Amino acid sequence: MKLSDQERKSIANKIRKVTLELEQQIAQLKENTQPISPENSIGRVSRMDAINNKGVAEAALRSRMAKLVKLKTALGKLNEESFGICDRCKNPIALPRLMYMPESDYCIHCAK
Ligand SMILES: [Zn+2]
Repeated sequence: MKLSDQERKSIANKIRKVTLELEQQIAQLKENTQPISPENSIGRVSRMDAINNKGVAEAALRSRMAKLVKLKTALGKLNEESFGICDRCKNPIALPRLMYMPESDYCIHCAK
């Protein structure tokens, strides 16, 4: 079963929406990953917290940026014949999965 134009359009809208959300989250996370000042006006324990939080924010930032790249790639190949086809088994990826994870290269069976 091939994707209809309408389905491709819904997926494109979904990708644009998620992309905007990700870009907002990334902007916020970038603020949280600013270098922590060595002068501990905030106290030693708070500084440890700040360093921990910075690590968490950096990991979140990395994963969101990776997802953003994948989404942009997915949007770029949305109109190609191969979009929505599992890279491994070459069967169509179910539409709900594409709507939920437009960047997925594999169908739900092969992704396991
Ligand atoms: Zn598959």
